[in-house]
Formats: sequence, C-alpha cells, structure tokens
Amino acid sequence: MTLAAEKAPPAPTPPQSRNHLLAVIPASEFRELKAHLTTVDLRAKDRLAETNRPIEMVYFPLDAVLSMAAVDRDGEAVEVGSVGCEGMTGLPVLLGAEQATSRVLVQVGGQAERMDAAVLQHEARRHDHFRRLLYLYAQAFMTQIAQSTACSRLHPAEQRLARWLLICRDRVGRDEMPITQETMAVMLAVRRATVTESASALQRQGLIRYRRGVVSIVDRPGLEAATCECYQIVREEFDRLLGTNLRGPFLVSKFALPHLLAAGGGSIVHLSSVCAITVWAGDCAYDISKAGLNMLSDHIAVEYGARGIRSNTLMPGVIRTELHESVMEAMDDGRAFERELLSRHPIGRFGSVEECAEAALFLCEDNAHFLTGANISIDGGYSRV
Ligand SMILES: [Zn+2]
Repeated sequence: MTLAAEKAPPAPTPPQSRNHLLAVIPASEFRELKAHLTTVDLRAKDRLAETNRPIEMVYFPLDAVLSMAAVDRDGEAVEVGSVGCEGMTGLPVLLGAEQATSRVLVQVGGQAERMDAAVLQHEARRHDHFRRLLYLYAQAFMTQIAQSTACSRLHPAEQRLARWLLICRDRVGRDEMPITQETMAVMLAVRRATVTESASALQRQGLIRYRRGVVSIVDRPGLEAATCECYQIVREEFDRLLGTNLRGPFLVSKFALPHLLAAGGGSIVHLSSVCAITVWAGDCAYDISKAGLNMLSDHIAVEYGARGIRSNTLMPGVIRTELHESVMEAMDDGRAFERELLSRHPIGRFGSVEECAEAALFLCEDNAHFLTGANISIDGGYSRV
C-alpha cells in the first residue's frame, strides 16, 4: 500500500469497537450499525440460543467468551466451537437460516454487543463491507470447527486443555479467567477426573495456576509449547484470511485517512491482485480477500472523493520475484506450469517489481488527479485472455 500526503499527521484515534469485526468496517457503515447495537453484560452459564429454536439475537463479544455446544437427546452437551472478540454468534441467520444449529452458552462472563437477528439480515444486505467481512469470518469459523473435531479425536486431554485455555486467554485479554472444572469438562468432552489430572499436570510444569474456580496462565510461551499444533493452525487460518490481505489495509486506511484529510487530501494505492477479478480453483480465500480489498478502495474513493482523497488499486498479475522463483522451484512440475502461465500472457513475459512501483508512483502524482475508484490490472494482459 502506498500513501501520499503533505503535512505532519495528527495522533491516531482509538478503534471504534473492541470486537474485531466491528472494529474494521468503515466508519460510515459502523455509524449506521451502531444504532442497532446494545452493549450487554453476560454472566457465565447464560444461555443465548438453543438448538432448533429461532435465533432472536446475535452477539459480537467484546471480552465475553461464548461456546457453541451440540446437545444430544439426553441433554449431554459437547462444545463444537467458541467465539470471542474476534467473531460473532448467529452465523445461521447471516447465511439465511432462522434456527440455531447449536446451543450458545456464556463460557466466560463479560460484555458483548447485541443485535436483533432480523436487523442483522437487513443490515448485512445493505452494507457491502459488513457482509463480506462476516462471510470471511464464517469461512474462518468453519476451519475452527473442522480443526476442533480432528483435535478431540487425535490429541490427548492435557494438550487440548492447554489449547483451550490459550484460546480463552486470547479472547478475554487477561491471564486470570474464572473457569470451573465442570465447564472445562463440558468444553473438552471428558470426565471431571480427566480435567483434574490434566490441570494438575500443567500446574506441576509451572504453566498455569488453578485456585477456587480461577485459572491463571503463568507461563504463556510454555503453555503454547505444551499444546497440540491445532492452536497455531486455527490462529494462522484466521490471520491468513482476515488479517494479512484485508484487516491490514482496513486498519492502515482507517488510521491514515485522518492524516490525509488534515494534509488537505492525498492518494491511497492498494496493492490488490489480478486474482480479485479472475478465478483460480482452490484459491478461494485469497481471491475473496483481494476482491474485498478492491471494494475497500472503491468505498474510500466514493466516500472521501469530495474531501480530496483519491483511492485506487493496482492488481498485479504474475510478477518475477524471489518468492515466485522459489515457488516454481519447489513445485514438481514448476517449470511446465510456468510455461503454461506464460502462454496466457499476451505480452509474452512476466512483470517486474519496478513496473509495479512505477505504476503506484504514477497514481500518487498530480497527473493522475482525475483517477480515483479505479482497479487497474498490471498483468501483461493476463486477465483479458
Ligand atoms: Zn489438537
């Protein structure tokens, strides 16, 4: 991303919400959504939704941690997923269903923003950014469920407890968490005796302290080393989908805009990808994130154009970089694939980093003053074939 402004910047403003989804939507959309959000205090064990019953409210946790549980006919509950400040409940409503597919319980008490489910459906239709972001979150949440299922089948209780405590800590934002052994047993789908054994083992290693319903994480890096690989896999998937390609540019734009406005205007160039407008089977998440970036740029162009801000995206195609070379080297049939790719470039070669840089600089110049809201392919004609 390239930014061009003229004066020294003012101090940055704090995020608009402690919920990560609400924090990254454009201020104009958040202002309208805010009227429909109510901040509520949730107590541990509160039941917010029940399987096969209509979902009336959806929740965006601020520091509460919520748990989705599958319930069998005898009323036995097993956790299938959990949600903290990185997400929301009520995905079935977003995807067009009306009933809950799992029980939603408060695992760790705290605050959340609550919205009427019907309002969510209506607002998601109206606000492009909001909707796209929630779809990305739905994708990341499915990864979490798949990984949890594999984890409970493959990994020992002690590693799973370590993982579960780390996830809780990430969401609550504190090392001390009020969690009973009974809750841990339900969440891990093991007997209480197993929780006692596992918690004692982690305590003996000096990783946690457990006293009267309060778990304290004493050695976080140690606890990360004691967990199974599932903790990192899920976290990396969340980061990969929502972080690098979309949240980063959202946040940089959000904090840079006041500076550019204070400077009397400026130009933002987002580095998107030709993948935003072409479909390559198997790269769904990457393509969605890049298409979202184009939309982010379009919104900035429309909403801030009158105040002197221009916003454009550059969509590079195949560019010769060290990364490109190492990927081709690592592939079994990398060079054959490269020839196939090349045949789809009317210009007969791949691009260079310098060519991308020159295009970005041009978009920042006064000569480009009438150019805004454009998504420009820089791909040797690849996307036109
Ligand atoms: Zn695991």
